[in-house]
Amino acid sequence: MTATSPAVEGWFTTGAEPALVGSRCTTCASTFFPRVQGFCRNPQCPGEEFEDTELSRRGRVWSYTDAQYQPPPPYIPATDPYEPFALAAVELPEGIVVLGQVAAGYGVADLTVGREVELVVETLYVDESGERTIWRWKPVIELGEEVDQ
Ligand SMILES: [Zn+2]
Repeated sequence: MTATSPAVEGWFTTGAEPALVGSRCTTCASTFFPRVQGFCRNPQCPGEEFEDTELSRRGRVWSYTDAQYQPPPPYIPATDPYEPFALAAVELPEGIVVLGQVAAGYGVADLTVGREVELVVETLYVDESGERTIWRWKPVIELGEEVDQ
């Protein structure tokens, strides 16, 4: 039996409008991703309780890089031979920066600091039990912008 499921359970929702799932402190409303437990990471806050919160689906590129060499295990290459991919650090309106791969078909040439990107869920790899998915950042194409793909 095969099925499609997230490569990491509980880190993001799936469906037409997927979203990352973070933790929001019930005391100071600071938001964290990945989810946290225990004590609030805000040093000014004594809070110890969190609620799950879906993060904004759009953010702006804060930094980005190109992974020209295959990362070491436990990285699972999606292709053989390895194909370089781009990584983007994206600042969300919540004030946190979330690292992710850039969506299939896009590379560093499509990125600039400050560019708006949107969360998508794509296949990370396929094994005998099915398809595993992960979140990625897809550049938002503004109306009127040249699309050269
Ligand atoms: Zn707090």
